[in-house]
Amino acid sequence: MPEDCPFCGIIAGEIPSYTVYGDEDVMAFLDVNPLARGHTLVVPKKHHPRVSGIPAETTDAVFQTAGRLSGRVATAVDADGTTIAVNDGPAAGQEVPHVHVHIVPRFDGDDGGAIHSLFRSQASVSDEELQSVAEDIKDGD
Ligand code: 5GP
Ligand code: ZN
Repeated sequence: MPEDCPFCGIIAGEIPSYTVYGDEDVMAFLDVNPLARGHTLVVPKKHHPRVSGIPAETTDAVFQTAGRLSGRVATAVDADGTTIAVNDGPAAGQEVPHVHVHIVPRFDGDDGGAIHSLFRSQASVSDEELQSVAEDIKDGD
Protein backbone atom coordinates (compact mmCIF):
# COMPACT_ATOMS: atom_id res chain seq x y z
CA MET A 1 0.00 0.00 0.00
CA PRO A 2 1.36 3.43 -0.88
CA GLU A 3 2.42 5.21 2.33
CA ASP A 4 0.94 8.54 1.29
CA CYS A 5 -2.49 7.31 0.12
CA PRO A 6 -5.13 8.64 2.53
CA PHE A 7 -7.70 6.05 1.44
CA CYS A 8 -5.29 3.17 2.09
CA GLY A 9 -4.75 4.79 5.50
CA ILE A 10 -8.51 4.79 6.12
CA ILE A 11 -8.86 1.19 4.93
CA ALA A 12 -5.99 0.15 7.23
CA GLY A 13 -7.68 1.93 10.15
CA GLU A 14 -4.77 4.34 10.53
CA ILE A 15 -6.78 7.42 9.50
CA PRO A 16 -10.19 7.93 11.11
CA SER A 17 -13.29 8.11 8.94
CA TYR A 18 -17.06 7.99 9.19
CA THR A 19 -17.47 4.57 7.62
CA VAL A 20 -20.88 3.72 6.19
CA TYR A 21 -20.17 0.38 4.50
CA GLY A 22 -17.52 -2.31 4.34
CA ASP A 23 -17.08 -5.82 2.91
CA GLU A 24 -14.17 -7.94 1.69
CA ASP A 25 -13.49 -5.79 -1.40
CA VAL A 26 -15.15 -2.42 -0.90
CA MET A 27 -15.42 0.32 1.70
CA ALA A 28 -17.48 3.52 1.81
CA PHE A 29 -17.04 6.54 4.06
CA LEU A 30 -18.06 10.18 4.25
CA ASP A 31 -15.97 12.71 2.34
CA VAL A 32 -13.94 14.89 4.72
CA ASN A 33 -14.71 18.01 2.62
CA PRO A 34 -18.28 17.29 1.53
CA LEU A 35 -19.96 19.03 -1.40
CA ALA A 36 -23.24 18.32 0.37
CA ARG A 37 -24.31 16.66 3.61
CA GLY A 38 -23.95 12.90 3.15
CA HIS A 39 -21.29 13.13 0.38
CA THR A 40 -19.93 9.59 0.34
CA LEU A 41 -16.92 7.94 -1.29
CA VAL A 42 -16.92 4.28 -2.36
CA VAL A 43 -13.47 2.72 -2.80
CA PRO A 44 -11.94 -0.65 -3.61
CA LYS A 45 -9.96 -1.92 -0.61
CA LYS A 46 -7.00 -2.71 -2.85
CA HIS A 47 -5.08 0.34 -4.08
CA HIS A 48 -5.76 1.04 -7.77
CA PRO A 49 -4.95 4.50 -9.17
CA ARG A 50 -7.31 4.43 -12.16
CA VAL A 51 -10.62 2.82 -13.08
CA SER A 52 -9.16 1.26 -16.21
CA GLY A 53 -6.62 -0.72 -14.14
CA ILE A 54 -9.13 -2.48 -11.91
CA PRO A 55 -10.03 -6.16 -12.37
CA ALA A 56 -13.61 -6.58 -13.62
CA GLU A 57 -14.85 -8.20 -10.40
CA THR A 58 -13.59 -5.23 -8.37
CA THR A 59 -15.23 -2.76 -10.76
CA ASP A 60 -18.46 -4.72 -10.37
CA ALA A 61 -18.19 -4.68 -6.59
CA VAL A 62 -17.43 -0.95 -6.38
CA PHE A 63 -20.15 0.18 -8.78
CA GLN A 64 -22.74 -2.22 -7.37
CA THR A 65 -22.04 -0.80 -3.92
CA ALA A 66 -22.29 2.75 -5.23
CA GLY A 67 -25.63 1.90 -6.84
CA ARG A 68 -26.96 0.30 -3.67
CA LEU A 69 -25.73 3.08 -1.37
CA SER A 70 -26.97 6.00 -3.46
CA GLY A 71 -30.56 5.44 -2.34
CA ARG A 72 -29.55 5.05 1.29
CA VAL A 73 -27.42 8.21 1.15
CA ALA A 74 -30.28 10.18 -0.39
CA THR A 75 -32.77 8.90 2.17
CA ALA A 76 -30.41 9.64 5.08
CA VAL A 77 -30.19 13.33 4.19
CA ASP A 78 -33.64 13.63 2.58
CA ALA A 79 -32.12 14.41 -0.84
CA ASP A 80 -34.07 14.57 -4.11
CA GLY A 81 -31.37 12.78 -6.11
CA THR A 82 -27.66 12.04 -6.26
CA THR A 83 -24.78 12.73 -8.61
CA ILE A 84 -22.67 9.57 -8.89
CA ALA A 85 -19.31 10.42 -10.42
CA VAL A 86 -15.67 9.44 -10.82
CA ASN A 87 -12.83 11.86 -11.49
CA ASP A 88 -10.66 9.43 -13.45
CA GLY A 89 -7.16 10.84 -13.80
CA PRO A 90 -5.58 14.23 -13.00
CA ALA A 91 -6.97 15.75 -16.23
CA ALA A 92 -10.45 15.03 -14.86
CA GLY A 93 -9.62 16.56 -11.49
CA GLN A 94 -8.68 13.39 -9.59
CA GLU A 95 -6.65 14.40 -6.56
CA VAL A 96 -6.47 11.18 -4.57
CA PRO A 97 -4.89 8.49 -6.77
CA HIS A 98 -6.97 5.64 -5.32
CA VAL A 99 -10.14 4.94 -7.31
CA HIS A 100 -13.25 6.35 -5.65
CA VAL A 101 -16.85 6.86 -6.68
CA HIS A 102 -18.42 10.06 -5.35
CA ILE A 103 -22.07 9.90 -4.25
CA VAL A 104 -23.15 13.52 -3.85
CA PRO A 105 -26.67 14.14 -2.53
CA ARG A 106 -28.61 16.59 -4.70
CA PHE A 107 -31.50 18.83 -3.80
CA ASP A 108 -34.06 20.54 -6.02
CA GLY A 109 -32.71 24.02 -6.67
CA ASP A 110 -29.17 23.42 -5.37
CA ASP A 111 -26.44 25.18 -7.32
CA GLY A 112 -24.62 22.03 -8.43
CA GLY A 113 -25.86 21.74 -12.00
CA ALA A 114 -25.63 18.66 -14.18
CA ILE A 115 -22.44 16.92 -15.23
CA HIS A 116 -22.77 18.97 -18.44
CA SER A 117 -22.11 22.12 -16.42
CA LEU A 118 -18.47 21.01 -16.05
CA PHE A 119 -17.98 22.41 -19.56
CA ARG A 120 -18.87 25.85 -20.87
CA SER A 121 -19.59 24.58 -24.36
CA GLN A 122 -20.22 21.34 -26.17
CA ALA A 123 -17.54 19.69 -28.30
CA SER A 124 -18.09 20.12 -32.01
CA VAL A 125 -17.86 16.67 -33.55
CA SER A 126 -18.79 15.78 -37.13
CA ASP A 127 -20.77 12.67 -38.08
CA GLU A 128 -17.57 11.19 -39.58
CA GLU A 129 -15.73 11.73 -36.30
CA LEU A 130 -18.57 10.20 -34.29
CA GLN A 131 -18.47 7.20 -36.60
CA SER A 132 -14.69 6.88 -36.31
CA VAL A 133 -14.60 7.26 -32.51
CA ALA A 134 -17.43 4.74 -32.14
CA GLU A 135 -15.44 2.24 -34.27
CA ASP A 136 -12.29 2.82 -32.19
CA ILE A 137 -14.18 2.24 -28.95
CA LYS A 138 -15.94 -0.86 -30.31
CA ASP A 139 -12.67 -2.33 -31.59
CA GLY A 140 -10.62 -1.48 -28.48
CA ASP A 141 -9.79 -3.90 -25.64
P1 5GP B 1 -11.00 13.58 -6.21
O1 5GP B 1 -10.79 14.99 -6.64
O2 5GP B 1 -9.70 12.81 -6.13
O3 5GP B 1 -12.05 12.86 -7.01
O4 5GP B 1 -11.62 13.69 -4.77
C1 5GP B 1 -10.97 13.28 -3.59
C2 5GP B 1 -11.94 13.47 -2.46
O5 5GP B 1 -11.39 12.86 -1.31
C3 5GP B 1 -12.19 14.94 -2.11
O6 5GP B 1 -13.60 15.20 -2.19
C4 5GP B 1 -11.65 15.07 -0.69
O7 5GP B 1 -12.45 15.90 0.11
C5 5GP B 1 -11.66 13.63 -0.19
N1 5GP B 1 -10.60 13.32 0.76
C6 5GP B 1 -9.27 13.62 0.62
N2 5GP B 1 -8.58 13.15 1.69
C7 5GP B 1 -9.50 12.57 2.52
C8 5GP B 1 -9.40 11.91 3.79
O8 5GP B 1 -8.33 11.78 4.38
N3 5GP B 1 -10.55 11.42 4.32
C9 5GP B 1 -11.75 11.54 3.69
N4 5GP B 1 -12.84 11.02 4.31
N5 5GP B 1 -11.90 12.15 2.49
C10 5GP B 1 -10.78 12.67 1.92
ZN1 ZN C 1 -4.68 3.74 -1.76
